[in-house]
Parts: sequence; structure tokens; C-alpha cells
Amino acid sequence: MEYKDIIYKTPVKYGLINYEKTYEDFGWEEVKRSFEHFSHDGVNIAHEGIDRHTSTSHRNKVALLWEDENGHKKEYTFSDIKRQSDKLANALKGIGINKGDRVFLFLPRIPELYISIIAIAKIGAIAGPMFSAFGPGAIKDRLLNSEAKALITTPELNQRVNEAKEELPMLKYIILVGAKDNLKKGELSYESEINKASEAFNITWVNPEDYLYILYTSGTTGKPKGVTHVHNDMISHYITTKWVLDLMDDDVYWCTADPGWVTGTVYGIWGPWLNGISQVVYSGRYDAEKWYSIIEKHKVTVWYTAPTALRMLMKAGDEIIKKYDLSSLRYICSVGEPLNPEVIRWGLGVYNLPIHDNWWQTETGSIMIANYPSLPIKPGSMGKPFPGICAKIIDAKGKELPSGKHGFLALKPGWPSMLRKIWRDRDKYNEYFRTSGWYATGDTAYMDDDGYFWFVGRADDVINTAGHRVGPFEVESALVEHEAIAEAGVIGKPDKERGEIIKAFVVLNQGHQSSDGLKKDIQEFIKKRLAAHAYPREIEFTQNVPKTRSGKIMRRVLKARDLGLPTGDLSTLEED
Ligand code: AMP
Repeated sequence: MEYKDIIYKTPVKYGLINYEKTYEDFGWEEVKRSFEHFSHDGVNIAHEGIDRHTSTSHRNKVALLWEDENGHKKEYTFSDIKRQSDKLANALKGIGINKGDRVFLFLPRIPELYISIIAIAKIGAIAGPMFSAFGPGAIKDRLLNSEAKALITTPELNQRVNEAKEELPMLKYIILVGAKDNLKKGELSYESEINKASEAFNITWVNPEDYLYILYTSGTTGKPKGVTHVHNDMISHYITTKWVLDLMDDDVYWCTADPGWVTGTVYGIWGPWLNGISQVVYSGRYDAEKWYSIIEKHKVTVWYTAPTALRMLMKAGDEIIKKYDLSSLRYICSVGEPLNPEVIRWGLGVYNLPIHDNWWQTETGSIMIANYPSLPIKPGSMGKPFPGICAKIIDAKGKELPSGKHGFLALKPGWPSMLRKIWRDRDKYNEYFRTSGWYATGDTAYMDDDGYFWFVGRADDVINTAGHRVGPFEVESALVEHEAIAEAGVIGKPDKERGEIIKAFVVLNQGHQSSDGLKKDIQEFIKKRLAAHAYPREIEFTQNVPKTRSGKIMRRVLKARDLGLPTGDLSTLEED
């Protein structure tokens, strides 16, 4: 309930002018009127996001301003994106990709990634964006579970797919961007397919409840689950982008997220384009100077990024900032992890702008709680629920708790972009709704007397490292596949820059000696099996991993021991 200072002044350009009144009067139905073609027998998010702009004055407006690490640039207007995605949609149809088929994307942030996601939606197929940092194990899990029929990737990244291909009988086509020659059976060249495809394409009108994309995300147990969203999500995408990100027609917007993370799909593709906004995509890695130069060069006005990046920029120092003209910036938002008040205060000093935190999840499909332009910011708070969203703090039985009390953050189900299923796992889907009348977020939080929500932590063991959600079980399972490891327990260890880092406690098999070399080998092993962001930055060799009598790893005990905190109730701890 404590906050030291409130930031009152945010330059409101449009946004949500009167939060309280809008919250009271709001209805989702009204939002549908913003679309050209919204009826129960025919919608398509790609029509609203791209095609419809080409019959307005936006037809020659820049949709995508792309730049890579080496400074190569490309620009695409809404008409360019329409043309390219129509051609690709024709090509996909030509090879037999139909409505409902899964087409996965394993690409860096190149224009083809964005065009492909639009094209897939146009034929009513389901897109599965994946991080290019994924190793063969992570790719295989996703392609296998989704039974993907086609994959769009590059020849370099395809080498990782090749390692898993034998076990993927459903995968009929691999479409390669930038393939020179030597195409193997089942491989196609993206460029050749586009070149020979017709520009004339009739979009597939789908039901609002038809699937649009699947993103795999981690829970405490089991493999990552395929969170599945539908075309109807566009209602939430459109209006949250307008009101939370405050986007206006003349804005140049930069979302730093990769579409492998839900923020990069929803607010790095759909949200801005549904609003007809020009957006910047920078395909390189984080680099303070590069990032500032992107803002300067493209005159970015609205910037959506994440706390780890902001903490890294803070660490990079204020001197760098003076080298760049950042005067175009007018609005900054952050998501994915707790945003430290210290970072907000720093931002206010160096950018002369507050940073607006907001909260949501892969499963919620759009921003649920936010700091709006017109609301005073209480640094450290995630803000207030979006109009149409009922967020409460509840206890384990589902009883609402009064302000100030810590509890589980829960939402009343039924908003337009709520997940529709976990791909091929009904039980996992039902788990979200186990408390009758609520969608369980898995986070703990409290609400203050003014209705602001404050993040406390995860109610489960899921780790949030630099905004990436990592399930400890996945890492443990991958660790024990290493020949030297007998047992493993994984925790999130607090870290100033990344929020948490992954720490693994490992018990070695007989005949293996602990060493720095072995640590490095284990880290490389995990990067290959999972992803570059999911490897344990810290590894501790130990004699045993605490477990319950039923054999469950007591991560709580590992964490308490690691942090020198009381271990709490140990009655279920297995005796050694
Ligand atoms: P993901 O689905 O990967 O985006 O992860 C969602 C989780 O990230 C949430 O359940 C939170 O634990 C965390 N998260 C997202 N946004 C915030 C925020 N603004 N403050 C604190 N935690 C956040």
C-alpha cells in the first residue's frame, strides 16, 4: 500500500481521456463498429489490419519501417504488405494449406516474418511464431504438439529443424527464405513461390471464433502449452492499442518485442496495424547505442519495451543518451516483468517522460491492467483494469479480498481475447478456471484503496527471466538428459538486471566430477535443447535435491536455502 510519489503529469494526446467514466460506460460490442467487416459469418483480422487500409488514404502510408543490425533498411506501405501477403496466401493455398492448418514460423525479425503472419491469417490458417533462439528440442515439441503442416524458416535456422525432422511426419513443407539452391524434398523457396503466385487473392472469411495463432508458454509442470487465440481477439487488440499505447495516426511506433513472445505478435503486428499505424521493426539484438539511434533515425514517437531492457539502458548510463536526439519520443510503455519505481524515476529524468507499466499474459491475449495517459502513475503499480475487464484479488476459495490484502490476481472470464484453448490439452485449459467464476492468472498481487494493482509475485514456480517465462520443470527435464546429471532442481534467483536468472542445483552421476568446464558444457546442452534464454546462468553442484515424500522437487526449499531465508514447513520433506 506504500508509495512515495505520484507522477501526475503525462502529456495526453488522445488515449483514455476519462478513465473512470469510460470504465463505467464501456461495452465491447461498441468496438466492433470500428471494423469494416465484423459479422458472425465473416471476419478476418488481416482484412482489418492490412487490406482495408488500402482502400483509404492510408494505402501509401508506411506500415513497416525495417532495419537490421548492419543498417540495411526496407520500407513497406500497407499496399505493399497487402500485395506480398496476397501472393504468399496464394502460394500457401497452392501447396494445400487450408483453413485450420498450422503454419509455424521460425524466423528472425525480418519483413518476411510479418508478411507471413498476415498471409497465414488471410487463408484462415493458424500461425505459430517461434523465437529464433530456440534449439531443436523446443522446435520439435512445438511442431509435434501442434501437428504443423508447414514451417517458414531460413536455411541457417533450418539446420536446427533438420535435427528433429525425422520425428515430424506431419510437417509436409519447409518454406525457406533466402534459399540459394539445393532444395531437398519437401523444401520450397519462399521467393520463388511468391514470384510465381498471383496477386489476386480472395480473403477467407472466418468465424470470429476460428483460430488465429498459437503461442507456447511455460507452466510449472509438463511441456510448454499451446495457448490458442482467435480472430475475435482483434476487438481487444484494437482498443487496448488505442487507449493504452495511446497511438495516433501520425505516430511512429516501436515495439521492441519479438513475435515469439505474445507482446511481439499482438502489439508488434496486430494492434498497431489494426489502428493503421506506421511501425518500426529492428531485427538486431539489444544494444544501447543502436536502440537510441533507431529512435533518433526513425523519429519514434511511441515506444513499447520491457523492464530488463530499460534496466540495461539505465546501466549503460546517461552520457550515451546525450549523444542522440530523442525529442521525437512522446510516450513510453513497459510490460513483462515488474517495473521498478527507480527505473520510472530515472526515465523521468533522462527522457523527460514517465514510463507506463502494464500487465497481461499470453493467455489474456491483450493488456488487462495498465497505466493510462490520463491516470496519475504510482511508480511500482501496474495500474488499473482496462475498461470491460473485471480484475480482483481473491483467496484460494475464490472469495474477493478487500484492498490492501495480498491474494491471487483473478479476472472474470469472457473478454474478447481470452485464450480459447490449450492445444490438445483440455485439462490444462480447465486448470485456469478451477476457481469457479474466475480465470486464475497464477500471479499474486494486491489492490490499493484507489483501485491500483500492485504485483507481488507468481503463485507458482514459473520463472520470469528478462521477461521470458520459463518453467522450472522443462529445464530440470532437459538437465537430467545430460549424461553427467542424476537429478536437478531449478529456481528463479532474484537478479538486479534480469528480474530473475535461472539457477540449477544438480546432483552428478557417479564417475563425473564437478568443474567449470562441466558447467559450461551443461549450459550449452540446455541452450540446444530449449532456448538461448532458458539456460541456467548459475549452476551449483550438490549432494541432493530436496523432495517431498511423493517425489516432487521442493523448489521453495531450494530457493529459501539459496537466499538464506527460513525454509518453512518441511513436514513433507523426504528423509535422505
Ligand atoms: P507472458 O505470458 O510470457 O507474457 O508472461 C506473463 C507473466 O509475466 C505474468 O503472469 C506476470 O507474472 C509477468 N508480468 C507481465 N507483465 C508484468 C508487469 N507489468 N509486472 C509484473 N509482472 C508482469
